[in-house]
Amino acid sequence: MDGINRVRCGRCREYFRYGDKVFLDYSYTIMHQHCYIPLDVIIENGTFIQTLKNNPCFHELLPLQRLK
Ligand SMILES: [Zn+2]
Repeated sequence: MDGINRVRCGRCREYFRYGDKVFLDYSYTIMHQHCYIPLDVIIENGTFIQTLKNNPCFHELLPLQRLK
């Protein structure tokens, strides 16, 4: 799976790829699961693409919606 080079991990600052395993925290910061620290309050656990699909505020980042 490729990436979109638009969204970076809140911790390591690397761009996400769609297949990356990520956590979403309560402030809607997406981070790699390997970048997680125990202080984070996780509200979602899945792949990056799934997290985008499950949260309407991220839908503009999905690959099929090219609005710009
Ligand atoms: Zn990271």
